[in-house]
Amino acid sequence: MIEKILILFYFIKARWFTRKYSQRLYNEQMKFIRTHSPFYADKADIPIIDKKIMMEKFNEINTVGIDKDEALAFAIECEKTREFGKKLHGVTIGLSSGTSGHRGVFVVSDKERALWAGTILAKALPKGKIFGNRIAFFMRANSELYETVHSNIIKFKFFDMYGDMANNISQLQEFNPTILIAPPSMLLEISKHSPNIRPIKVVSIAEILEENDSEIIKKAFGVSVVHQVYQCTEGFLGLTCECGTLHLNEDFIVIEKEWIDEHRFYPIITDLKRRSQPMIRYRLNDILVEKSEPCKCGSKFLALEKIEGRQDDVFEFEGESGEKVKIFPDFIRRCVLFVDNIGEYRVRQIAVDKVEILIDDIDENRKGAIVAEFEKLSNHFKFKLPQITFANYEYSRNRKLKRVEKILW
Ligand SMILES: [Zn+2]
Repeated sequence: MIEKILILFYFIKARWFTRKYSQRLYNEQMKFIRTHSPFYADKADIPIIDKKIMMEKFNEINTVGIDKDEALAFAIECEKTREFGKKLHGVTIGLSSGTSGHRGVFVVSDKERALWAGTILAKALPKGKIFGNRIAFFMRANSELYETVHSNIIKFKFFDMYGDMANNISQLQEFNPTILIAPPSMLLEISKHSPNIRPIKVVSIAEILEENDSEIIKKAFGVSVVHQVYQCTEGFLGLTCECGTLHLNEDFIVIEKEWIDEHRFYPIITDLKRRSQPMIRYRLNDILVEKSEPCKCGSKFLALEKIEGRQDDVFEFEGESGEKVKIFPDFIRRCVLFVDNIGEYRVRQIAVDKVEILIDDIDENRKGAIVAEFEKLSNHFKFKLPQITFANYEYSRNRKLKRVEKILW
């Protein structure tokens, strides 16, 4: 009950009192971490950290006295038994899969969960229409958190992505959601079944939403924008506005930018609300692209052109004189998308000189056209053309869809 009141409180705050974070909020958070987090107690300058340091210093950083090994063992046990409601010393423990090979664990308090749910609802519910919404949510693992929101005002139904698809579709039609939330690969799957639903809002979560896929999803559900939640273990970082622009949540997140080139940067985030496991000057390895023009919606919050991909998925080829040449995911994506009639695809770099492309029913002409695009790219950036092989595309519900991916070798 208290949790519902808290969600409502944060909902109202986020819905009608949104503005950029204040210096006071910032000072309060700094004061809190210096007095409660042993890691920050004696540091005059606050260092930039990343996931590796966060895990190494986990016991000193968190302010609720949780031991990393105990938390990991606990989280793995919950995952195995699929009991997601359990708590360790009063806080929720989660596992982060992490693509870079570091298995992470994170801590969230009840208050933070309420804040998360209230804020995400406030920002995601359609303007002017709050009550009477039916929200369908497709996720990989059930969590008590997602069910918290179910009440008389807002109906909330969870769909298990591991569940039978035909059954999911018939239940989805019966539920007839006003808001449909799922990873983009799942939205694509749902659209293939042409369900008889007309959601007013479609929200993409958990995976990168590619422009191409966004177009297909828009058509399938008859919406003008596919909204995107930018969220990870590190927190709820951003959401698209009515104009379809992704804005970062600068009402409670401070963004520093580590520039890669003129437009691309790695964000270094400071979350002014999270306290059980503070995120302070935490560097993410997402490559973000800043929008050059201010957004028409009028929001002052940092506007992104897109999330281009993860640092781990920057391809690396051998240069003409043996040096490493880095190629951003966008260039790789374009090699495939410049060719006509490409639907579902994946591109994987599996060795420094090997790239594998997975596409449905590809003919020799289009294969040739894709290889020609790679040749252009290699000429432009002066790297040795890798061997390119083709295979059939297969959809899997068991892992996150990444269209462009570098497999560590
Ligand atoms: Zn906007």
